[in-house]
Amino acid sequence: MKTLKVNIVTPDGPVYESEVEMVSTKAQSGELGILPGHIPMVAPLQIGAVRLKNGNDTELVAVSGGFVEVRPEQVTILAQSAERSEAIDVERATQAKNRAESRLNASKEEIDFRRAQLALRRAMNRINVHDRNF
Ligand code: ATP
Repeated sequence: MKTLKVNIVTPDGPVYESEVEMVSTKAQSGELGILPGHIPMVAPLQIGAVRLKNGNDTELVAVSGGFVEVRPEQVTILAQSAERSEAIDVERATQAKNRAESRLNASKEEIDFRRAQLALRRAMNRINVHDRNF
């Protein structure tokens, strides 16, 4: 089986590096599945999960937006933040979700509303990745 080298990096450092058979993630334009030999491209990412598949094993990493750069034998994800599912503190994400929901109910300013919406999406994504809800 052919493989791709995958690196997920954040401003705080590398989060994931491995050879995998398939990567799938959520680009701004929609779900993106990448196999070895994919045409080169760069695409912005949504807040979502990166799925890294090897045989019957699928590892999940939560990413909070960024970019994916695809080359035929290598995928690099530059993410604002990224956590492997086992590194997610679900209590922290639940608190962030509750905070964001209260702000969404209370905020009058458009900018605060938008920030709270993004915080809510980050928190729900972390909870879903932790629970392997994909
Ligand atoms: P919080 O309000 O809990 O800080 P946030 O969405 O504002 O959440 P970010 O700014 O996206 O947090 O991330 C800041 C740093 O904390 C990043 O390094 C990120 O990987 C880490 N991080 C955030 N939430 C969690 C979590 N629930 N579990 C593990 N790491 C987390």
